[in-house]
Amino acid sequence: MEKSYRKNHLPDTIIKVGDVSIGGDNLIFIAGPCSVENEEQILEVAIKIKEYGAHILRGGAFKPRTSPYDFQGHGANGVKLLELAKKETNLPIISEITAIKHLDLFENVDILQIGARNMQNFELLKEVGSLNKPVLLKRGFSNTLKEFLLSAEYILSQGNDNVILCERGIRTFEDWTRNTMDISAIPILKELSHLPIIADPSHATGKGKLVKPMSLASVAAGCHGLMIEVHNNPKEALSDKDQAITPNELKSIIKKSKKIKKILY
Ligand code: PEP
Ligand code: MN
Repeated sequence: MEKSYRKNHLPDTIIKVGDVSIGGDNLIFIAGPCSVENEEQILEVAIKIKEYGAHILRGGAFKPRTSPYDFQGHGANGVKLLELAKKETNLPIISEITAIKHLDLFENVDILQIGARNMQNFELLKEVGSLNKPVLLKRGFSNTLKEFLLSAEYILSQGNDNVILCERGIRTFEDWTRNTMDISAIPILKELSHLPIIADPSHATGKGKLVKPMSLASVAAGCHGLMIEVHNNPKEALSDKDQAITPNELKSIIKKSKKIKKILY
């Protein structure tokens, strides 16, 4: 029996992370850099995004980069810096886990992120399914919604009910954008599933300028939250610099998203 399906579990799942509730009528904002780069960078971003109303701090430490010659993240040290930012700001933290052997390093990370490239890494899914920790599962860039939900099942079927779905764009023939953001996935998943749905307009578009309109479109489509890449100096970001926005731009997205949510829902 599919546990992610609404018909088997009518009410929305609401996931508590510290003081934050994800799902239901809540609209939450996850923000932070693609990669944790150094102490100064992560602290500065964390303080700013908190001031502007974000609820959760993101930051990659183990980066699954397309090229092995690109910056791979600071690994265990990156997680430690993220923990430091959590201590300073009290913001819960999310970071991507790419291998089972790293699990111990993520003990103080509030939400485990499974990236698009690992959406069908079934051994990893089963492993995080055996934990009692929220997991944000990203849609693979060549995966259907059915496959996406079946991957969520791998986590749920092991007993971990705290699964958050994340639409981050899929690969199409269009190459103006990094991926094509499947906004329709939001209302479809909301109808099919009781799990919270977060939209990631940063990876979906790959272009900083498109992050705001696609954020607002996602809120209008009914997402439960946004995950946005924010950097204090986007031009200098060590990964995904073209899609990073500044804390000030995030501020405006949060303000407008809340307005849209209020008008429409
Ligand atoms: C990320 O969020 O840092 C990331 C690598 O995203 P995705 O897995 O969607 O490419
Ligand atoms: Mn990124």
